[in-house]
Amino acid sequence: MTKDKASVLLIYTGGTIGMKEDPADQTLKPFDFGSLMQEVPELRKFAIQIDSYTFDPLIDSSDIEPGMWKKLADLICSKYDSYDGFVVLHGTDTMSYSASALSFMLENLGKPVIFTGSQLPIGLPRTDGKENLISSVEIAGSMESDGSATVPEVCIFFNDLLLRGNRSTKVDAGGFDAFRSPNFPPLAEAGIDIRYNRDLIRRPSGKPFSVSTDMDTAVSILKVHPGITERVVEDILLGRRTRAVIIETYGCGNAPSRDWFLDIVRESASRGKILLDVTQCLRGGVNMDLYATGRALKDAGVLSGGDITTESALGKLFFLMGKSDDNEYVKANLEADLRGEISL
Ligand code: ASP
Repeated sequence: MTKDKASVLLIYTGGTIGMKEDPADQTLKPFDFGSLMQEVPELRKFAIQIDSYTFDPLIDSSDIEPGMWKKLADLICSKYDSYDGFVVLHGTDTMSYSASALSFMLENLGKPVIFTGSQLPIGLPRTDGKENLISSVEIAGSMESDGSATVPEVCIFFNDLLLRGNRSTKVDAGGFDAFRSPNFPPLAEAGIDIRYNRDLIRRPSGKPFSVSTDMDTAVSILKVHPGITERVVEDILLGRRTRAVIIETYGCGNAPSRDWFLDIVRESASRGKILLDVTQCLRGGVNMDLYATGRALKDAGVLSGGDITTESALGKLFFLMGKSDDNEYVKANLEADLRGEISL
């Protein structure tokens, strides 16, 4: 059964996209999404019913916390049956973190949740915000001939590319081409038409949609670098309140092979902490069997993050640790592909 008109809920959290110049004093102020159709008349051309929800207060995404992800997940859950898709307007700085976290929190998702934003405010003449918003709404409202959603995933749409959210990362601080998913092809590209890569898009499991908002944030990130000191490694890997550490390593998962480093890793693992090896490289992933230094980490009890991004590893850990106090449960699920976030 197909419907005449799709419906999309536009959720505004803050960030650059929602700013408009106030003619009175030429300063940038948040845009009133109640009058969206007047401001972005192009949206009228779609046969899509668009409603909006604005968070109060609006925030720069540098201030995003897991509490905001919970609010977003709960909002989507409460409106899930009323809309065909959701567009989340979000600052670019932490958009990949939020899209990754939401991809885990929204379980058995059957509808699109498209994050977008812009590098220039929507109210400025050269804005990238209008294109990003218009295409995101079109994607969120897009359905297949059987009435199912074309993209039932949490995604980021930015500068003509639709990316799986938990594969994305911000790669440019100033350019319009700000996001990439280096280890996974785009799910769609917008040109004259929006060309969907249907073979890559995940289909819903058929189980009922639910949200999981319990998160445990006792995670640290240790980025290895030449000159890293024993004291710093110790503080992070043996920190009393830390339950898991993402070790950001070189290349395909390598870290210093000095005895003191490996001793601390072993001690941390023997205390039951969850240690995950994630590469600092943008493309490719961890293969701990390739070099002796990677193998030493594996033997010390570190798990492989494969080609996962740090943003996604963080969201996955928060989510899995929120589900269970048992670190063995978390470890068992960490290396599994839950939402298309790693290539196995
Ligand atoms: N600092 C802003 C934010 O992330 C930047 C942006 O929206 O692009 O909220």
